[in-house]
Amino acid sequence: MHELSIAQGIVDIVGHYVPRARFDTVRCVRVRVGDLAGVVPDSLAFCFTAVTAGTPMAEALLEIERVPYTIRCTDCTSESTTEPGLALCPRCGSIATTIIAGTELQVMTIDVDEETPEHS
Ligand SMILES: [Zn+2]
Repeated sequence: MHELSIAQGIVDIVGHYVPRARFDTVRCVRVRVGDLAGVVPDSLAFCFTAVTAGTPMAEALLEIERVPYTIRCTDCTSESTTEPGLALCPRCGSIATTIIAGTELQVMTIDVDEETPEHS
């Protein structure tokens, strides 16, 4: 499953910023998922729960912010959110458009509980 490897990738990204020994302090991981990123948010949330289950990060929440597919038209300079993948400008019908949002798949923030006393 596609989302499973992405969820594993998110855990790996968290591992770049948070030492494994402090994985139990991770409260929330916020990701941005574009409509065109090819990811089903519900499925990603489910997979994140699955890959963190039984690990110190089991308590962490995955918060998914959806980013609508947005194009900018070169001809009429308008910006529109439209059907994912569609290049047609809904204002003037031009196809001289550029994707400006909607393909993201990014980890934005990682909330770590700083209050937890150090275990010695
Ligand atoms: Zn246009």
